[in-house]
Amino acid sequence: MLFLALLHFNLKLTVRLVMMEQDKELLFSVGSGALMREFLERSLSSRDRSVVSFDSLQEGARAAAREPVDLVVYSVDGLKSPPDDRCLEPLADRLIPVIVLSAMNGLEDRTSWLRRGAVDYVVKPFEIEDLSARVDVQIRRIRVYRDLLSANERLSQEVKKMERLAIVDGLTRLYNHRYFQERLRAEFRRARRYMSPLSLIMLDIDDFKEVNDLHGHQVGDLVLSTLSRALKQEMRASDLPARYGGEEIVVILPETDRASACAIAERLRKKIEGLRFTGRNNTPFSITASFGVTSLDNKMGSSAQLVETADDSLYVAKASGKNRTSAFERQSG
Ligand code: GH3
Ligand code: MG
Ligand code: MG
Repeated sequence: MLFLALLHFNLKLTVRLVMMEQDKELLFSVGSGALMREFLERSLSSRDRSVVSFDSLQEGARAAAREPVDLVVYSVDGLKSPPDDRCLEPLADRLIPVIVLSAMNGLEDRTSWLRRGAVDYVVKPFEIEDLSARVDVQIRRIRVYRDLLSANERLSQEVKKMERLAIVDGLTRLYNHRYFQERLRAEFRRARRYMSPLSLIMLDIDDFKEVNDLHGHQVGDLVLSTLSRALKQEMRASDLPARYGGEEIVVILPETDRASACAIAERLRKKIEGLRFTGRNNTPFSITASFGVTSLDNKMGSSAQLVETADDSLYVAKASGKNRTSAFERQSG
């Protein structure tokens, strides 16, 4: 008894291991007739194909949800007509081809199974060579189809990755200059149309050349990436931070007026001031940055003017001692 149980367990395990082999085909044979089941198992299995039998379609469909089955051969009992309209649905939904074997040879029987989702219909009694050839055709087709599906999936993942890479700066993981310009133009048009506020912050790290000179460019790079991560954490999802150039960062602030933008810039400035770094010979150091803030007003004719005034403000912040925020307003005329 124990011997039989062990043998059974061993057999089940072997079937599983065999099924796990990537290239080996897996076929389910479904039907309650024991003779037909044995015949199909014997005739359709080979070195490259396992055949596993099930009593009912429900059982087969349950197993198909767990195992990567290539094809189901469903032998309909006796002269039974199709049991219900949707019996093949669980298999068809998983794109598993089903070949129906049936003794019924009427036009309606044959066509109704095909309409229910069967890929082929073979009338009993049949020649095994005929069934075997049809099984081969369907397995070949489904394998090609699945390969295409997974290639397609890999491709769309790749496209998503490329799309992201095309708009993100490699070092800082902020948006890049081109994407910033594109989005600023779009936000400019939107703000104009809805007469909503729009602000822009431009910041530049103070004396960054010194950081590179004292601690090396690798430390400089680390400062840039750490600072960028810290800035992102401080922002709302609707704010758009981008690397404008070297150590200059811009933030588009939709729906934000000048006063709020200045408050945000001050918060970011203090955040940067509070960051701690370790340089050459374990020397601790910190950095500061200067901020220029500007907001959309009626005189501005293009998004480029927003950048220009943010730049002017930044210049004022630098000229008046650095580590500060300026919201310089250009006089008209
Ligand atoms: P200021 O306070 O006037 O802004 O002085 P600064 O030294 O920051 O400005 P300057 O324009 O003289 O120098 C900018 C420095 O930023 C020089 C450049 O090597 C450095 N830099 C720009 N991009 C990168 C980068 O990607 N990595 C590193 N490590 N340094 C960079
Ligand atoms: Mg600088
Ligand atoms: Mg600079």
